[in-house]
Amino acid sequence: MHSPSLYVVATPIGNLQDMTPRAIATLQSVDVIAAEDTRHSAALMQHFGITTPMLAVHDHNERQRTESMLQRLSEGQSIGLISDAGTPLISDPGYHLVSAVRAAGFSVVPIVGPCALIAALSVAGVATDRFTFMGFLPAKSSHRCQQLESIAEAQHTHVFYESPHRIVDSIADMGKVLGQQRQLTVARELTKTYETVYGGSIEQVQAWMQADSNQQRGEFVLVVAGKPVATEAPSMDAETDKLLTVLLSELPIKKAAAMAAQLTPHKKKALYDRALQLQGK
Ligand code: SAM
Repeated sequence: MHSPSLYVVATPIGNLQDMTPRAIATLQSVDVIAAEDTRHSAALMQHFGITTPMLAVHDHNERQRTESMLQRLSEGQSIGLISDAGTPLISDPGYHLVSAVRAAGFSVVPIVGPCALIAALSVAGVATDRFTFMGFLPAKSSHRCQQLESIAEAQHTHVFYESPHRIVDSIADMGKVLGQQRQLTVARELTKTYETVYGGSIEQVQAWMQADSNQQRGEFVLVVAGKPVATEAPSMDAETDKLLTVLLSELPIKKAAAMAAQLTPHKKKALYDRALQLQGK
């Protein structure tokens, strides 16, 4: 390794085979690993034969630890940052450390890999051109509903993390606020033995979970499709027909349709087709 850097290293979200060779090599060669929970990560380190010393950096001590991390970097040491699972900083600690390290002018390098929200999006089969990651919903139902109300009209996909303790209540609140017909995909235990991806209306998902309580266990990503765009074209009424008939008596069909499009809520193409019908073509 060349200049002292902070390496933000993704680790598996269940399946150890998802540990990348680059992640292993990086964690082996840094001077210290900042881990969310050193006891938890010890098993991973042992599995891959990584003997680098670890230091705990979690939500409660991240600010204090940042100073000593900056000190290490200024002494020329490199640091690896890992969380309990997946990509650090994604609903995990590390934001304060990364921003401080960048502000101090050291390089921060992503060692990419597993991330539950991206894994869920990649298999849910919902629109992914635009999505909002919401993290965990609040624990209290009233706060949860408030947050769900704020996204109820959005037409793009929303992704949530959820724990087994709240999965049933959160989905019930989604049904209440977003409507029972909203499309929801539950991505459960991704990359693990009991991996399940189930999609349907909220109503269907609830029935499926109730039918088999095992489906309420484990780790979850919830992918909520956006509110469907109202695509129904307004139906042609007698007034529009009358207008088209008058216009057609004076103008060629294309012009009549274009003019009617300016005077009614209908699209030019729909008016053109209707004009053809009125002319018996
Ligand atoms: N940093 C992690 C990442 O990159 O996905 C997320 C950490 S967050 C504290 C843990 C939450 O992520 C879980 O409660 C669950 O919602 C989701 N999660 C993590 N692993 C998962 C898996 N294997 N299957 C489904 N969801 C998972």
